Amino acid sequence: MEENTITNEQQDNYNMENSEEFEFQAEIKQLLNILVYSLYTQREIFLRELISNATDALDKFRFLQLGENQVSQQDGELAIKISYDKDNKSIIVADNGIGMTKKELVDNIGTIARSGSMEFFKKLAEDSRQDINIIGQFGVGFYSVFMVAKEVIIKTNSYQNDQPGWMWISDGSGKFKISPLENFKQGTEIKLMLKDDAVEFADKTRIEEVIKKYSNFVPYPIKLEEEKVNTISAIWTQTPSSVKEEEYREFYKFMANSVEDPFFWVHKAADVPLQIYSILYVPKTSMENFGFGKVNRGLSLYARKVMIMSECKDLLPEYLRFVNGVVDSEDISLNISRETVQDNLVLQKIKRNLVKWIIDRISLVAAKEEENYHLFWQQFGRFIKEGIVADFDNRNKLAALLRFNTSLAKDQDETISLAKYLERMKEGQDEIYYMGGPNREEALASPLMEIFKEKGVEVLFLYDPMDEVLITHLKEFEGKQFKSVELGDLNLKALGVEEKTDKQEKPVLQQSKIDKILELFKELLKDQVSDVRESQRLTGSPCILVSPDDAVSSHVQKLMRQVNKDFPLSKRVLEINSDNKLISKLADLHYAGEKEEYVRNACLQLFDNLLVLEGMLQNPRQMVERVNYLMQESLGEEKSPIILT
Ligand code: ADP
Repeated sequence: MEENTITNEQQDNYNMENSEEFEFQAEIKQLLNILVYSLYTQREIFLRELISNATDALDKFRFLQLGENQVSQQDGELAIKISYDKDNKSIIVADNGIGMTKKELVDNIGTIARSGSMEFFKKLAEDSRQDINIIGQFGVGFYSVFMVAKEVIIKTNSYQNDQPGWMWISDGSGKFKISPLENFKQGTEIKLMLKDDAVEFADKTRIEEVIKKYSNFVPYPIKLEEEKVNTISAIWTQTPSSVKEEEYREFYKFMANSVEDPFFWVHKAADVPLQIYSILYVPKTSMENFGFGKVNRGLSLYARKVMIMSECKDLLPEYLRFVNGVVDSEDISLNISRETVQDNLVLQKIKRNLVKWIIDRISLVAAKEEENYHLFWQQFGRFIKEGIVADFDNRNKLAALLRFNTSLAKDQDETISLAKYLERMKEGQDEIYYMGGPNREEALASPLMEIFKEKGVEVLFLYDPMDEVLITHLKEFEGKQFKSVELGDLNLKALGVEEKTDKQEKPVLQQSKIDKILELFKELLKDQVSDVRESQRLTGSPCILVSPDDAVSSHVQKLMRQVNKDFPLSKRVLEINSDNKLISKLADLHYAGEKEEYVRNACLQLFDNLLVLEGMLQNPRQMVERVNYLMQESLGEEKSPIILT
């Protein structure tokens, strides 16, 4: 138990002659019990609470000054003064704000039940970390002083000058005393007689540290022994035109604890229906690119310039976790806590505004500053992609922010927007084509690209496995459907491809040969493909594998295979190019019943070639044997038998 008696010397000073004794209200007694006898790691927050109350008192007085003529003008500036005495183990926080009358003092500090205190107990009991930090949000922040003080003395005088001053004194057990006070100037002074284990707070460096941590943006000077400690004013509550670029940069560096300038920012204020001030910053680099895993600092949440929560992660959706910043709103109720942000309607509304502001800001860069946007895209493109999957409401705006490398780009670095793609579509084209692949070279070389290259139709190249997930989610952009070039049912007519049968009827004999070789392919590959048919789209390559509409693309399947070698590959359709020389030669041989073994092996090899191109071949040994056989055969040498598969 702490030593709670008041020393004689103090009693003399305090002149408690006419004191009246009061009991703390029952709930507050319980709260005090918890605070006085429990050990908390974050005891330093008592100072934040006192500064926050002082700021309120100054705000209220400033407000009155604006409205009422009869309100006295304070001598000197409105400020918060902090002093300490190491020997006496005490710290004083004083303000020249609104002050309190006797009734206010008795009611506000001690006797009127604060609705928040019960909620605070509940939260504290539920919270395994015993996070005392949230106390201020329950409207009982003042009592946190009893974590560090064995005795608290409040001296106060209301701005209503006809009233005398009052003194309030308590050791945090069940009672407090108050007595009149002569000649006390307007405002409030709170003196804490520190517990022996809390003397650290009677120290300049320690006090300074706590002020900088929690109260640096308080809009009144906080003077520690006459020296102003808070250096940065609350620039977010100023009108954007009055804030200098340099101030925005400095503020960012302070907030984000960064040595780097921000990339760009948006400073907004709204009054209706909610009052919100906010500055949102986009950094230059994504911390996640340095291999930090998910980095979500959240935003600093203020209510009237006093910080309520430092890393509030719920004010922006997760995909915007790279955004740093501050939000200030008068409309935030005091009983918000980390746990209730999700269900808090006001915060949800604030969140909607913030999301709109930041997306609009990014869109502006995308529209007006191509080079900067390119840099943004390199750093944060993947977050935008995440947003498309996660944020249905903003999907269209986010889709407009996407950038892709395409078949018509000059190199892998050049990207375009979907809007640009639509602009460049060929006449008659009504689909947006895409193709997954590991890199530009591979994508361009794929036989799937043949028809698109020939017709000059642009194809989006998707190198990031996430891209295909995203395209599947989007389904369309401005009414145009996304289609994989791998699909079997592409609208080729729209690309100006005539059906082969339309060109000219093939001689019956030739058609029979083709039909026969198709049958052979079907027989050989019955376990590997779902169908074999004549291709309408190939102009050079002998064959191609295409997918049914609902299939996972081969690029994604390949990536899945890397994770799980047993991942089942979906069966595709093999399309054969009847105009290809090799194919027609094989068809002739097969029709004539010649070199049967050679023909069969060649057909199998054509299929394996496609798998090799995709990196999906599972049995290279068998293929190598087959290739050896085919080479021997082409030299007309004695052949060793080979097992067909
Ligand atoms: P809150 O500030 O959230 O209302 P507190 O427990 O911190 O809750 O403070 C209780 C009340 O005491 C305040 O609402 C205010 O009316 C009064 N009070 C505290 N500190 C001061 C001060 N420095 N000047 C004027 N009034 C104060």
